[in-house]
Amino acid sequence: SYQKVLEENRKLYNQVQDLKGNIRVYCRVRPFLPGQPNSLSTVDHLDDGNITITTPSKYGKEGKKSFTFNKVFGPSGTQEEVFADTQPLIRSVLDGYNVCIFAYGQTGSGKTHTMTGPSDLTKETLGVNYRALSDLFNISEQRKDVISYDISVQMVEIYNEQVRDLLTPDGKGFNVPDANLVPVTSTSDVLNLMNLGHKNRAVSATAMNDRSSRSHSCLTVHVQGKNMTSGTILRGSMHLVDLAGSERVDKSEVLGDRLKEATHINKSLSALGDVIASLAQKNSHVPYRNSKLTQLLQDSLGGQAKTLMFVHISPELNAVGETLSTLKFAERVSTVELGSARANKEGSDVKELREQISSLKAALAKKE
Ligand code: ADP
Ligand code: MG
Repeated sequence: SYQKVLEENRKLYNQVQDLKGNIRVYCRVRPFLPGQPNSLSTVDHLDDGNITITTPSKYGKEGKKSFTFNKVFGPSGTQEEVFADTQPLIRSVLDGYNVCIFAYGQTGSGKTHTMTGPSDLTKETLGVNYRALSDLFNISEQRKDVISYDISVQMVEIYNEQVRDLLTPDGKGFNVPDANLVPVTSTSDVLNLMNLGHKNRAVSATAMNDRSSRSHSCLTVHVQGKNMTSGTILRGSMHLVDLAGSERVDKSEVLGDRLKEATHINKSLSALGDVIASLAQKNSHVPYRNSKLTQLLQDSLGGQAKTLMFVHISPELNAVGETLSTLKFAERVSTVELGSARANKEGSDVKELREQISSLKAALAKKE
């Protein structure tokens, strides 16, 4: 049956991902916002790991396209559900792993909602950032008789390829390693710092409205744990990144500052895509140096590091162009494509799985 084929497809997909290592991609669909209740959606079909987007003829080349990810959250997915699937990754930070979590998508698709939450925050709507920190504190408390943990945070913004420290009042160009590193011992410490960071970020937004959609913001958590019996020290880190809006601007229509911003955003998002795709393919050369963003995260991307990309899409029909390019970006960073030069044992296993997935996709397309 249809369900069975989809389930099979997802199982194979996750097998490919396991072979490939530490890169995960989750897709999240924003609900329609109040005031647009009965609108038609671009999402034709959606389940735990698959999503099919439909393009009506009015909005481009008519047709349907399916994508498979590690996880797909529909419009009714809650903050709690999203976090539940993120939790194991976050816990590994306390075991000494480096973790990067990215929110990708066009402006208005829900990146800040996932990472921080809506502006009228409640306990239920708290985002990944707060839940992650709170989880780290809880577990470190449980382990305190064995391991003593120090946790500290940094918050920076990258705007036009310049890094700015958000935890110092006039933090100018810094590298993340030099940015103010603030020790924290409770979630309320973290909330206070996040508020300070958001305030400092807003101060610089005077000249342009909504700078937040045109800069990347990164909350970094450093964890150091000392085993009290053996004396062993372990270090883990976590970057929680709310990326600049991925929408393409029409270069013929923008000038000056907007064009400069757009050029920097395009450059850094494609550099990020290149790095993750290159890691997914286990290339020996990873092009970290092509943007500030990838330079800053270099130590936490690749090697034993674990990466999770949340790709966000809006359900509106007129967003379908951006939605498809977002999903194609996501597919690229999560897809294994092995060149002939790297046809090792693992390579051929992956290739076989990919062929099976392709044929399943073709079978699915026929069914529709
Ligand atoms: P972005 O950061 O990608 O520009 P936002 O997170 O600001 O987008 O989301 C745009 C609007 O949609 C906000 O009002 C936000 O609260 C709302 N929104 C986004 N995702 C969801 C969701 N999953 N559930 C409910 N409202 C959401
Ligand atoms: Mg935002």
